Amino acid sequence: MKSIILLGAPGAGKGTNAKRICASYNIPHISTGDMFREAIKNKTPLGELANSYISKGALVPDDVTIGLVKERLSKDDCKDGYLLDGFPRTIAQAEALENIGKELNREVKYVINFVVPENILVERITGRRVCSKCGAPYHIKNMPPKVEGKCDLCGGDLIQRKDDNEETLRTRLSEYHQNTMPLVKFYSKVNKLHEVDGTKPLEELMKDINAILG
Ligand code: AMP
Repeated sequence: MKSIILLGAPGAGKGTNAKRICASYNIPHISTGDMFREAIKNKTPLGELANSYISKGALVPDDVTIGLVKERLSKDDCKDGYLLDGFPRTIAQAEALENIGKELNREVKYVINFVVPENILVERITGRRVCSKCGAPYHIKNMPPKVEGKCDLCGGDLIQRKDDNEETLRTRLSEYHQNTMPLVKFYSKVNKLHEVDGTKPLEELMKDINAILG
């Protein structure tokens, strides 16, 4: 069972690599950030609540996020594996996930931590762009589209996430240090943690990830 968690700071490369891993192992990509952004776009009550936290760079409360993930993991398409991108982000979420995994018989097997120095994170986040239609990721310098402002895959307009500005990023990074970093120890203790060098070129990084996942 390929049940995978990606850990790492904002800009560490979780989203980009998640898409590649999920395509190659044919498992669903579960990004809590994407789920919240979709709810915000559709102006649902969940979206309104999530937006009040996301716009400040703060974490959405655990009970809301855990409930959302539990519902998603119960779906049939997760029975042979799944990839969680951006969840868990707190010890309480990780503990809840252990229980959910046991209850559904879908326990997490692999935790991959993307290690990237902070100066590179800031450069990646501030230059990040994303397709407004299909969600494909770009970077104005490191991964530019063929036609400026347009997605190579679907021609959609590229946009900058509202929380990808320097001020909000500072809060997100401090949330990461305070709440998410302790997860590295949490998963190392149960022998599920694998670290990869997130500064490597994508193809090399995928080789390292494939070696972990077998
Ligand atoms: P991401 O797309 O993973 O960078 O997430 C964007 C924002 O969504 C975060 O800065 C949080 O405000 C919120 N968010 C995403 N995942 C979680 C989570 N597991 N727990 C709490 N908030 C989250």
